[in-house]
This record gives sequence, structure tokens and C-alpha cells, in this order.
Amino acid sequence: MSKTSSPSSSPPRVVVVGGGFGGLSVTRTLRNAPCQVFLFDRQNHHLFQPLLYQVATAALSPADIAQPIRSIFRRQGNVQVVLGEVESVGLARRIIHVGEEEVPYDWLVLAPGVTHAYFGNDGWAIRAPGLKTVDDALEIRRRVLLAFEEAELEDDLEAREAKLTFVIVGGGPTGVELAGALREIAAQTIPRDFRRVDTSTARIILMEGQDRLLPAMSRRASARALRDLERMGVEVRLGALVTDMDDDTVTVGEERFPAANVIWAAGVQGSPLASTLEVELDRQGRVMVEPDCSVPGHPEVFVLGDLANLTDPKTGRSVPGVAQGALQMGRFVGGVILEALARGEPAPVRRSFHYVDKGNMATIGRARAVADIGELSFGGFFAWVVWSTVHVFYLVGFRNRLLVMVNWAWQWLIQARGARLITGNPRPRLTKQADL
Ligand SMILES: Cc1cc2nc3c(=O)[nH]c(=O)nc-3n(C[C@H](O)[C@H](O)[C@H](O)COP(=O)(O)OP(=O)(O)OC[C@H]3O[C@@H](n4cnc5c(N)ncnc54)[C@H](O)[C@@H]3O)c2cc1C
Repeated sequence: MSKTSSPSSSPPRVVVVGGGFGGLSVTRTLRNAPCQVFLFDRQNHHLFQPLLYQVATAALSPADIAQPIRSIFRRQGNVQVVLGEVESVGLARRIIHVGEEEVPYDWLVLAPGVTHAYFGNDGWAIRAPGLKTVDDALEIRRRVLLAFEEAELEDDLEAREAKLTFVIVGGGPTGVELAGALREIAAQTIPRDFRRVDTSTARIILMEGQDRLLPAMSRRASARALRDLERMGVEVRLGALVTDMDDDTVTVGEERFPAANVIWAAGVQGSPLASTLEVELDRQGRVMVEPDCSVPGHPEVFVLGDLANLTDPKTGRSVPGVAQGALQMGRFVGGVILEALARGEPAPVRRSFHYVDKGNMATIGRARAVADIGELSFGGFFAWVVWSTVHVFYLVGFRNRLLVMVNWAWQWLIQARGARLITGNPRPRLTKQADL
């Protein structure tokens, strides 16, 4: 990397920020391009977020669903991977700021994704962790496993019930998947491992502000998810907007739920990097991009993936913040840059991005899922087979695919969860115990 030098010398410099689905996809598309790609990420790994809830619920280990970005691009000679947090973008000077460095670019692709949003109650973050990174998943896993340990040592009935109450805020795919997995842990995986407490009495309460679960899916899928979760023993509250929470309770309007454990799966907000562009953002802090994913007035700068707010001109619908959207935008933007590199100048008129909806899925417990694919909406075991096949297919790295499949087969056969480790110095609170 040169420091504050002119980027005009060849080959052209393409700076990509973010090694998630969008960043990987654009970088791969440029594999044979006559350019130097600098791929920045603040983490050294690409994370397969769709399976993150399985790390949070002790089914998989972090390394099963993450891959070092450096190793992904080992064979792509025109990529330099840089571990670093990009702090801001200077559109006028065509530079990004990383710590003390100013890094110039000819083309810039921003794919740093989104973060959790607590709807103006940022103080809730400590009480109710969200799920976005490996660290988030390990923290949730720690809290969940610790809650059962503390309940085992608790003599006071009310306090024990609170320790065994898990509130999940947000009934989208992450909330639904977490609720199903937690119920399974409590009712099937661990009851025989505990002596003083019946873990199957644990309450898993899933709260959704809208009138149905999985609001982005079909009504049929929502209804089926509700039915399947309730059959498993999950308590679902629809139209339930959390209005407050403290150390012991979660409040929804007039109703108070004593609960020691809260997980946040409710809202997202654009990466803070977006605000440094000084262009129009939507209410969630995402960048309002042109139909070709570029930033208005800057055809050399693109925003893609979760951070882009783009209405598909063909369908008039907003491109959803899902892995497919980021992958497709990455391929599209890579194509635009390739074309411009081949012409030696930007194309006078660019194509528009069009999103191909390949379907939506969410899993519910060990061997059930709901799926909307085209006009079809189905559920049950077959949907789960489709869900698992798609997820294994999109995982990066052969080793990870193999490990995940072996883990799932093992869990399916003996209902075990192999990653039940409490990390980070558990220190459960010991209360008065007659029989210890
Ligand atoms: C728990 C969970 C479950 C999900 N389940 C599904 C699912 O089942 N199906 C589905 O299609 N989608 C799912 N999604 C959504 C999907 O993961 C996202 O749509 C997709 O990851 C977006 O890709 P992206 O490239 O825009 O951002 P991300 O994949 O979030 O990648 C962003 C990258 O940028 C890096 N970064 C961020 N800021 C900076 C910075 N300032 N400097 C340097 N690097 C930075 C991050 O470390 C990260 O590697 C899920 C998301 C989550 C959180």
C-alpha cells in the first residue's frame, strides 16, 4: 500500500472494504482482472452468518463456519488482504482512512454490512446481546449455558424460574432459529446432565412486534413456523413490542416478564462507515445507491450487500438484506469494474442491478424448516433437507462443509451438542445449598 500517493500508476487499484458475502463475491469476480485488489476487513476471517445461531446454541464451533480471508485468496495473485478497520472515506480525494494511513483508490467497493439496532435504547445492548460476530455468538453461548448452571445451584424458586427464562426479541429467521434451538437444548439435549433442576421447564419466549413470525416470508410459512414452535413448547408473543428492560425483567407495555436471559434479534443499522460518505442514507443508516449500486455522483464508488438500499427497477421491490443479495451485487459490481477496465474508461451507460430471488428459508429445531421458493411454500423435514443442502453448499471451504455435515449427522443421531463449552471464566453465583 502506498501512502497518500496518486493512484494513477498502473495497475488500477480496487479497494474492497469487508470480507463478507459481498466483498468476497466482488473480489472473486475480479480474479483475472488487470488490477490490484486490496481487501480490507477488521476481522481476519469470513463468517458464514446464517449458521451463527448454531455456534450460539453450542451445535457448532466458530471455526466450522469461518474461514481465514487470506487462505480464501491464497491462489488469487492480484489480491492483497489487509487486516484493518476502515474508519472513513474521503470521496473527493479518493482515499480511505485506516488508522494513521490514507489509502488511495481508483475504484472503491464498500461492503461492511450492518450492525444491531436497539431502536434508540443502546443501553439494552449489555443486557440483550445481538448476534452478528463470532464474539457475539460465544457470549450468547456462555450466557445460555451459564444460566442452566446457575439454575442448578439456585434454591429460591422464583429466582430459579427467572434463570430458566429466555426471552428472544425479534421473530425473524434468527429469532425463530434461536428459539427452536434453545427449546431443544432445554428439553432434549441436557435434562439428563442436571441433577437438581429440570431444564425442560425452561421458558423460551419469542417476542415479535408484528402480527406474525418471519414477516419477510409468506403467510403460510409464518403460520407453520408459529405452529411448529408452539408444538415444541416455545411461547410466541406476537404484536409484542419491548418497551423496557432491566437486570431482572423485560417489559412489554403493561406486562412484565421476569427473565435473566435476553437475546436481541430485532433490528439492524448500517455500518458507521456509511455516514462518513456524506450522502443520503435511509432511516436504518443504509446508503441510497443508484440502480448500478454506485454512490450518487461517484460512479467509481459502490456500496453493496446489507449496507445498500436499492430498489430493483425491474420489480420495484427493495433488495433484501440477505446473503444472496450481497453475493449477486458483488458479482454485478465486479462485472461493471471488469467492463470498465476492459474499455479503459467507465461505460457511458451502465446496466441496472436485478435481484434474482432464489427463496427464503428458516429452520425450526433439529429437523424441521419452512421454505418459500418461487410460488412454493413448504415445511417440515423436506424443507430442512433443502435448508441444510443450501447452507452446506454456500459454506466456504471443503473442511467446513465436511465438519458441519458430520456434526449435524452426529446431533441428529444422538441429540448431542458438541460445543457446550462455557468460555471466559464462568464464575456462577453460588447460593445457599443444603445438599452440596
Ligand atoms: C445471525 C444471522 C443470520 C442470518 N441468516 C441468514 C440466512 O439464513 N440466509 C441469508 O440469506 N442471510 C442471512 N443473514 C444475512 C446475511 O448474513 C447478510 O445479508 C450478509 O452477510 C450480508 O453480506 P455483506 O457482505 O453485506 O456483509 P457481512 O457479511 O456482514 O460482512 C461485512 C464484513 O465487513 C467487515 N467490516 C465491517 N466494518 C468494517 C470496517 N469499518 N472496516 C473493515 N471491515 C469491516 C466485517 O468484519 C465483515 O467481515 C443472516 C445474518 C445474521 C447476522
